Amino acid sequence: MLTRTEGIVLKTITYGEADLIVSYLTPDFGLLKTFAKSPRKIKSRFGSSLEPLTYSKISFWGKEHASLPRLTQSDIIHSFHLLRERMGYFFKIVEITELTLNFIQEMDANKKIFLLFLDTLKLIEEDYKNTKNSSNKENGFNTSRINLLVNNYKVKFLKLTGFAPRIDSCGRCGSSGNNFYISQGSVLCESCVKQSSVLILNGLPSMIRLSLPVMNFYNSLMTWDTTKILRIKPSINLLEELSNILNLHIKYIISKPLKAQTQ
Ligand SMILES: [Zn+2]
Repeated sequence: MLTRTEGIVLKTITYGEADLIVSYLTPDFGLLKTFAKSPRKIKSRFGSSLEPLTYSKISFWGKEHASLPRLTQSDIIHSFHLLRERMGYFFKIVEITELTLNFIQEMDANKKIFLLFLDTLKLIEEDYKNTKNSSNKENGFNTSRINLLVNNYKVKFLKLTGFAPRIDSCGRCGSSGNNFYISQGSVLCESCVKQSSVLILNGLPSMIRLSLPVMNFYNSLMTWDTTKILRIKPSINLLEELSNILNLHIKYIISKPLKAQTQ
């Protein structure tokens, strides 16, 4: 059966001498892994369309639910080549690409996640062009704005996948508090901490004290429209505080299922 969809290349792995396994983020099939025959031959029909981050219309051939359908066509909609040129941008995008690869399942369609990823790439690219053309040369890279976009992606992505940390109030009883417990993925109030055994974590701090601005900022990012996000100008400290919380939370979630599998 021939199937058509759209996809953004998240990752490619070489297979044999000249073949590739291409992992796409798609709106219709979640993570889609396809087999591309001889894409590196000079006259390959795929051209440069299999480069990471390329957004294309694709067709693939395979039985329904086949594990590795064969890619038959890919026509570039937008190459995002600028994002591969600048290492500073590319490394930031690798962060959200890896997060997405870790959480998204095959055959698990989610249009909202696809659009969030696409919008984030578009905004980073637009920002790169604007910075490059502006008279106040900032070396073509604005750390605050790209960190804001990366944090915004993480917050909304965790919400859409059901892994959002709870930062507004105690996750057990709902009363107010500002101590975030990594193993609980939540703020806990003092009396709930006394009643429960909070896990001590290997190599990770078990608790972080949150500032009021970061709690407000996080809860605002949950609801603010991504396409308008660059209108706000949070301080570098606020962005760093949020990055730290999100990264510890993500690290804990990713390590947990792996441990469970080996037991
Ligand atoms: Zn409580």
